[in-house]
Amino acid sequence: MATGNINVSVENIFPLIKKFLYSDHEIFLRELISNATDATLKLKHLTSIGESKAEYGNPFIEVKVDKEGKKIHIIDQGLGMTAEEVEKYINQVAFSGAEEFLDKYKDSAKDAGIIGHFGLGFYSAFMVADKVEIITKSHTDAPAAYWVCDGSPTFILEEADKKERGTEIILHVSEEETEFLEDSKISELLVKYNKFMPVPIKFGTKTETLPKPEGAKEEDPAPTQEVDNFINNPTPAWTKQPADLEDKDYKDFYRELYPMQFEEPLFNIHLNVDYPFNLTGILYFPKLDPSVGIQKDKIQLYQNQVFVTDNVEGIVPEFLTMLRGVIDSPDIPLNVSRSYLQADGAVKKISSYITRKVADKLSSLFKNNREDFEAKWNDIKIVIEYGMLSEDKFFDKAKNFALIPTVDNAYFTFDELKAKIEAAQTDKDGKLVVLYTSDKDAQHSYIQAAKDKGYEVALLDSPIVSHLIQKLESTYENTTFVRVDGDHIDNLIKKEDTTVSKLNDEEKEALKTTIEGVVPKETYTVQVEAMDSQASPFIITQPEFMRRMKEMQQTGGGGMAMFGNMPETYNLVVNSNHSLVEKINAAENDEAKSALIKQALDLAKLSQNLLKGEDLTNFVKRSFDLI
Ligand code: ADP
Ligand code: MG
Repeated sequence: MATGNINVSVENIFPLIKKFLYSDHEIFLRELISNATDATLKLKHLTSIGESKAEYGNPFIEVKVDKEGKKIHIIDQGLGMTAEEVEKYINQVAFSGAEEFLDKYKDSAKDAGIIGHFGLGFYSAFMVADKVEIITKSHTDAPAAYWVCDGSPTFILEEADKKERGTEIILHVSEEETEFLEDSKISELLVKYNKFMPVPIKFGTKTETLPKPEGAKEEDPAPTQEVDNFINNPTPAWTKQPADLEDKDYKDFYRELYPMQFEEPLFNIHLNVDYPFNLTGILYFPKLDPSVGIQKDKIQLYQNQVFVTDNVEGIVPEFLTMLRGVIDSPDIPLNVSRSYLQADGAVKKISSYITRKVADKLSSLFKNNREDFEAKWNDIKIVIEYGMLSEDKFFDKAKNFALIPTVDNAYFTFDELKAKIEAAQTDKDGKLVVLYTSDKDAQHSYIQAAKDKGYEVALLDSPIVSHLIQKLESTYENTTFVRVDGDHIDNLIKKEDTTVSKLNDEEKEALKTTIEGVVPKETYTVQVEAMDSQASPFIITQPEFMRRMKEMQQTGGGGMAMFGNMPETYNLVVNSNHSLVEKINAAENDEAKSALIKQALDLAKLSQNLLKGEDLTNFVKRSFDLI
């Protein structure tokens, strides 16, 4: 047996770092600005605890692009490095000065906001540069240092004559990466990754319009001046305490996050926790516009105010990815795969914390301002209904504030609705029947019929409603949901039957046989019933169960594939008390009978929106012939 050390030489790993460490070349700028920010925050910390005699002042970071010279400069006024420190922190790949600092100053520096972690960030510079220079002057009395490396494992380290404290990094951009020499590209990257970083970042200048001097003429142009262009807001709203923010501040911040978004958010949720994990952030409920489809990927994830990604899949529960806003947490391990992320304990806790906060916020909105909550319901229901379906813990809370609107614009919680219909809407087995419509226009005649009988009709029109109904039925045992055009209401809801039948059983049976002879057998099950003479003569209904299974299958999950292949089947309910039936019976021959039945069936189909194509054309023609 032999043991030993695997020899990892710098010659071997350098090309690896260059090539594979980060697939995204553009992140070099984020890394170097993070280091400049760390250097500044470290100095702030040291001056605050009296370990540095330097004057902290108002330091900022500057980025300069020298297109001709093919160079990018990143200059900070942070704590700088001595030659020994360059030797230690830069020449040792994978040794993190940030971690060492946090270790050394433990408790006092815990909230200093230091970003660095793995000691690899600096070398990302070599993804875009074939030579990197460092000119740095420590905040101590030590002389300045100069370091240069051309990407080979050899470097030069010597004394320099820089006077001001801080570090300048110079990247000699390689031939393949010249896109990073464009001002517009750098500006885009700064806005993407560094927009909310805690130290001001200057990039070029911008033109500012000044007020016109007194006595200036209308046509005189307003004077302008060139001012430093700072790209970031160092204290974004989510880093502040909720108590220090007003409604307007939240709205302004939304605008800052989504400058192209014109709709105001409906409300916001401020996240703020530091045990057992660290997380801050603000989530917004947007006004969802179903016509543009459900938009995801709007939540931005930050770590210590550095933008990381806008793909929060695995961190935020799926149903909340429709929200917008920011989450900032140093505790999310992003160097691992997404599938691993979902299994990570800390991430699971974060996810359930967010779910709980959202549920609590909704619950308090419901309790404190019901009217406003009802007004917003239509815009937020998709998120809530989807959450109720996918997260049991969310369901348990949401069932107390989720609303069921009626076609008359009244809003009930499920419990309220049950109490309201308890006396009038039960079926033969004593189950509570919730009548609903999924489309006020298409099911208009059925809604009308139900309302005429004094029933409440709920309006449940979101695309996933059949799944939700299924879930509610399994949670509340004694309840069943039936669409207004589902099974026939008179059959369904138990009540005193006072209608007198004009036909006897034998005549009814004969009528049934006649009609069955005319309508397609495989599609319609004929039922003859004595109803109010005012009710429609022919009514088409579709069994609730079959329709719902088909719908669930279309919207994915839950439904069973077999239902998709089943042919459409309907009930044809014939009102034997209607005068049309007398007409059918009195018709002189079979042909006349059949014509009447076909016309009545088509009219019933028409009101169910089932008459299409050739059938519709024939129907129109036949109707013209009749008149
Ligand atoms: P990390 O940031 O994870 O510690 P990096 O590779 O990004 O690792 O940087 C290595 C170390 O080099 C830093 O921890 C810091 O000590 C030093 N360093 C890098 N950039 C600067 C800078 N602009 N000013 C001062 N020190 C720096
Ligand atoms: Mg770093």
